[in-house]
Amino acid sequence: MERPNAWKKYSPQDLEQVMKTGEAYQDFLNRGKTERECAREAVAMLEAAGYQPLEQLIREGKKVQAGDKIYVCIMGKAVLAFLMGKKPLEEGMNIVGAHIDSPRLDLKQNPLYEDTDYALADTHYYGGIKKYQWVARELAIHGVVIRKDGSRVELAIGEKDGDPVIGISDLLPHLSQKQNEKKLAEAIEGEKLDLILAGSPLEGVEKEPVKANLLRILKDEYQIEEEDLISAELEIVPAGKARDFGLDRSMVMSYGHDDRVCAWAELAALLQIRDIPERTCCGMLVDKEEIGSVGATGMRANYLENAIAEILALQGAYSELQVRRALRNSSMLSCDVSAGYDPLYGDAFEKKNAAFLGRGVCFNKFTGSRGKSGSNDANAEYMARLRKIMDDNNVSWQTAELGRVDLGGGGTIAYICALYGMNVIDSGVAVLNMHAPMEIISKADLYESVRAYQAFMEQA
Ligand code: MN
Ligand code: MN
Repeated sequence: MERPNAWKKYSPQDLEQVMKTGEAYQDFLNRGKTERECAREAVAMLEAAGYQPLEQLIREGKKVQAGDKIYVCIMGKAVLAFLMGKKPLEEGMNIVGAHIDSPRLDLKQNPLYEDTDYALADTHYYGGIKKYQWVARELAIHGVVIRKDGSRVELAIGEKDGDPVIGISDLLPHLSQKQNEKKLAEAIEGEKLDLILAGSPLEGVEKEPVKANLLRILKDEYQIEEEDLISAELEIVPAGKARDFGLDRSMVMSYGHDDRVCAWAELAALLQIRDIPERTCCGMLVDKEEIGSVGATGMRANYLENAIAEILALQGAYSELQVRRALRNSSMLSCDVSAGYDPLYGDAFEKKNAAFLGRGVCFNKFTGSRGKSGSNDANAEYMARLRKIMDDNNVSWQTAELGRVDLGGGGTIAYICALYGMNVIDSGVAVLNMHAPMEIISKADLYESVRAYQAFMEQA
């Protein structure tokens, strides 16, 4: 039952493709470090491939037919793409969905203060982080500031050569006797994740001169007032680019593999489909997965349903029943990262049911915690169909659970899509250091997931 390592099967030509795929993915990672940036990149890739915005088709009253390429961007943070198939939509789609939000620190809405000659900013962490991993390291600011008149400033500071970086201080070991006695989870408090943004005063200012200097820079360089931060989404992420990891360059180290690795693989797979598919292929890149898929851009919102209704209307076939049938008859891969087996922490895993880096795309029949709580438990019948598709296409794949029973757990968007009555299974790429500022994946798993998602979209 042990799954073979995918690297063993590659010819020199395959290896070249594996490495090329790794490079293209790293380029995407470097352009997309927030959900908004990833959505923008996805839209650019889709438009370059001939995908048209659904709104435009609605405006033009275009008749949608097989082979048409359509996308929807929801509030700049989530994207749906449809490659229309030959069969009627009511017979269902083959859907691949992943999320493009990643754990990070968000700037609070009233963030700035001065203390002892530093200008600092308060943050509120987003998603599940181990707080001690975010101090004493270089960080960058990405995001948007919307002024009262509706004009916007897009920021990305800390990425280009010569850019300054920012960060959060930590206590020196010499004085850490008390801190060292604390539990790991409590050693760094959420309210202590405050960024140092500046350290020099503005001349001639008596009260809070360092903060005044910071405000001057924001005004001079970005035309932002302090009050504009109220209508801003500024995300603090690790500064720096994705890099090859390991002397053999077999892995990629980066911030945000969870879940941009599946998001990119899904897009790459969709864009590789050349012939008009039998069933409509749908790629979903969603937001807010890390905080429970809430809000208008999270999977719990109705945008998939809405898009299906609009497309059916453009086909002159809209009815609520048609929408329900299209969703119920669909098959889906809920693509998200899986916990890669770590030999240093082997006792956190049950080795027969763990995901291993390099052994191909993972299928998690169920996720959840404790007694599978919160899990979407995929049907055995569906799992059997997927096994056949993967084996018929010589895709390297493995099955996995998140970790040892009783140790913790997690969930994805699978259970939400399952509410429509469609078949859904969790699938994805194994990651080492999940949710850390530097996560690691294997290029073989990335390559196999692109192949898996394409085979699924064309053949499921
Ligand atoms: Mn995830
Ligand atoms: Mn996650």
